[in-house]
Amino acid sequence: MIDVLVIGGGPAGVVAALRAADSGAKTALITRDEFGGMAANDGPVPVRTLAHAARLIREARQLGQYGIAVSQPVLDYQRLLERVKEVVNDVRAHSTFRSQLASVNVVVYENEGCARFTDPHTVETATGLRLRADKIIICTGGVSRRLSVQGSEFTATHSDAWALTSVPASMLVIGAGATGAQVASIFNAFGSQVQLFHAGPRILPAEDEEVSAAVATAFRESGIVVRENFGAIESFEKTPAGVRMYFAKNGKQESVEANVVVAAIGWVAGTSTLDLAKADVQLNSRGFICVDEFLTTSAPHVFAAGDVTGRLMLVPQAIQDGFIAATNAVRGATMKVSDQAAPIGSFTDPEYAQVGLTETKARETHDIATGVVNFNSTTRTIIDGRTSGFCKLIADRQTRQILGCHVVGERAVEITQVAAVAMAGTMRVDDLAQVPLSFPTYAGVLGRVAANVTRQLNLGPCSDELLISH
Ligand SMILES: Cc1cc2nc3c(=O)[nH]c(=O)nc-3n(C[C@H](O)[C@H](O)[C@H](O)COP(=O)(O)OP(=O)(O)OC[C@H]3O[C@@H](n4cnc5c(N)ncnc54)[C@H](O)[C@@H]3O)c2cc1C
Repeated sequence: MIDVLVIGGGPAGVVAALRAADSGAKTALITRDEFGGMAANDGPVPVRTLAHAARLIREARQLGQYGIAVSQPVLDYQRLLERVKEVVNDVRAHSTFRSQLASVNVVVYENEGCARFTDPHTVETATGLRLRADKIIICTGGVSRRLSVQGSEFTATHSDAWALTSVPASMLVIGAGATGAQVASIFNAFGSQVQLFHAGPRILPAEDEEVSAAVATAFRESGIVVRENFGAIESFEKTPAGVRMYFAKNGKQESVEANVVVAAIGWVAGTSTLDLAKADVQLNSRGFICVDEFLTTSAPHVFAAGDVTGRLMLVPQAIQDGFIAATNAVRGATMKVSDQAAPIGSFTDPEYAQVGLTETKARETHDIATGVVNFNSTTRTIIDGRTSGFCKLIADRQTRQILGCHVVGERAVEITQVAAVAMAGTMRVDDLAQVPLSFPTYAGVLGRVAANVTRQLNLGPCSDELLISH
């Protein structure tokens, strides 16, 4: 019997195994396929490589504006996919996780196929490996939600991008959350005629309303057909050129056709093959593993971490979860998950990012001051010819605490990191306004917008005019 068995080799599982072994537990890690999980093999790393290619195309288009003559960029999709493989392998080869796991004697069982519980303490893999453990940490991540209408087998997910042999002439993306918006933006840059369909009233529904609106406008200007509130999908049908989607709104039926239809309608927990009932591990109403603040499941000796719990489904949160679950598995319930503000963003064109509360949410619970600085008035964006976008900062009028920051435009994700650090350090907005951020930088906009909010709070000399150079 081992002390701790971790199921899943993504960021949550790897960190959980490391932490458990570091805390003195005899630990094993089993994973269905390759080490690294979705982050390394099918999510951020490969998708970000495609996004970088999209960025290079748009940067190349800017060259003429700066007096540099080149011909139009032409994408070789096969070569790009080779580059994606090179990057994935390079990231994997340079990951120190493997050696770290080895140094604390974690036994790693890779490519074992799906694991499942055979009793509360025993897990068996598709290859026949059988392990018994005192504590078990489930880190099996999630999978793309599939549509359940007729013909949905003709739709693809973001993962199918790796199997395409060329850029499709037309693409229909269903669902405009982070993944759908990213797929739409990348393939639009690659030359596909993209239609982005979203059932709700606005794309990127988790973002601040003004961010959603700005990204929708920018997408439309770049040639993406954005249809919000489009109605309900009735069916899909295979056509000689691709797939046709039938949908209806208010009794009126319509259809659209594209070479490829990508469904990006959310995530479901990767639990279907685990046979959780054998360990008495329950799911919540959303179908994710139900955990308490210590990441303990309904079975006191089983913990869950990362996407499989359905909380913020991002790499940093998976890493934090893995650490917390393993700490509690080895040392008892000592560490709680925090509700720390987490920066979230995406590398679309334009980029967008947020940390903390949206303006609407902040207004529900606080008396707020909101400042906005447009990118057409900041020095660095003008230098770089990237003047679309804005930075919005929200602060509490009484405590002056920063409640949220929302950015659309060039380097939005990086700008928001700086705001997140200020928030994590519980910095007041007037203190942020006094930090002499480097000039001319993208993050410098935070000084401007903080000064703008500070002035609204009548807090003395820190006027945004004084900081106009940013
Ligand atoms: C397109 C896309 C882009 C993304 N971009 C970002 C981004 O920019 N930034 C960011 O922070 N996050 C991003 N994410 C999310 C991020 O990839 C996940 O939040 C993160 O990988 C979750 O880590 P995890 O360890 O919980 O699960 P995963 O990384 O999914 O790992 C799960 C592991 O469990 C294994 N497994 C599954 N079932 C079983 C089983 N039955 N038995 C044994 N092993 C099993 C798998 O093989 C895998 O190793 C993106 C995701 C996608 C899809």
